[in-house]
Amino acid sequence: MQYRDVFWRIAKSSNEVDYNKYVKEMQELDPTAWQFLENKNPRHFCRLFFKPNAKCDSVDNNMAEIFNAFIIEVRFKPIKTMLEEIFESIMTTVASRKAIAYNLQQQTCPAILKKLDKAKESSRWWQARRASNGMYKVKHGTNGFVVNMYAKTCTCKVWELSGIPCTHALAVMREEQINPI
Ligand SMILES: [Zn+2]
Repeated sequence: MQYRDVFWRIAKSSNEVDYNKYVKEMQELDPTAWQFLENKNPRHFCRLFFKPNAKCDSVDNNMAEIFNAFIIEVRFKPIKTMLEEIFESIMTTVASRKAIAYNLQQQTCPAILKKLDKAKESSRWWQARRASNGMYKVKHGTNGFVVNMYAKTCTCKVWELSGIPCTHALAVMREEQINPI
């Protein structure tokens, strides 16, 4: 269980400080376990190495699992029938999602709003100090990150990777009375 926890912390690390901390934790736990992971190439499963242009920080295979569950009944049918049924299922799913989106009161989807609310809640522990050119130093105790409001980046890399403002950027927005949505 401990191995799994440390593995997920490594995979979800978006910056080098966290990544190195959890790699060290795994090495102390069991050097061969880290050797095994290193041989699998962390570039393929760690957020730290993801390119920011996709705006997707997903590190698990939930999307593939959901799709597999979606096609579980039809995948044993002849290929033409299977493809037609997958097409129809996707078509009706997209239509029902569009109907939900059409009735939303705001532009941002509820799942993202929930994430933002959670990040806003933890942002109150962080203090933002303005530098120049849209830059801010955001601190909590001995931890500190640099937010660039013009480039929409933070040294924690969460904002770049997901496209959703991180806790530190939200601390700046609170300070400057900027609406994050
Ligand atoms: Zn950040």
